[in-house]
Amino acid sequence: MPFACARCGRCCHGKGGIYLSEASASMAAGLLGMGPSDFAKRFLSPLPGGGWSVRSGPSKGDPCLLLGEDGLCRIQGAKPDVCRAWPYLRAPLGSEGAFLELRGCCQGLSGLTWRDFLKGFEEPGAAPPGDAPPTGGFRALARAIGGPWAF
Ligand code: SF4
Ligand code: SF4
Repeated sequence: MPFACARCGRCCHGKGGIYLSEASASMAAGLLGMGPSDFAKRFLSPLPGGGWSVRSGPSKGDPCLLLGEDGLCRIQGAKPDVCRAWPYLRAPLGSEGAFLELRGCCQGLSGLTWRDFLKGFEEPGAAPPGDAPPTGGFRALARAIGGPWAF
């Protein structure tokens, strides 16, 4: 059984602080029809080493400010790398315990074994939800963005 995103939006409810590169920030601003500085003022915090961190709402449990009311990311074409790679991140790929913990919060993983999950990562043609399919699936995506071990 392959991973299929149930679009529950839970992975967009975190502590915020998701890294967005300068280039992706400009692209994301364009997607929303905003200028880069207005976009940054509204959604981002600058990071000391360059790039940006996407902010979440002010209260505990608030979602990422870029989550739309329809439960989808508003910047699909310029989504941060970690969001594109999700749920194929370092911890669940490296540890069954971490996978089981993740499975408890991601509906798209429900019913999957760790073996299914690892297989899905390797499968050519698998694509992250909402993104243009990367040639070769998630492993190719991970290679392209320097992960999954980067996350
Ligand atoms: S990846 Fe998982 S947690 Fe995120 S929206 Fe899809 S089903 Fe929900
Ligand atoms: S940038 Fe998009 S995909 Fe990433 S947490 Fe925010 S809303 Fe979700």
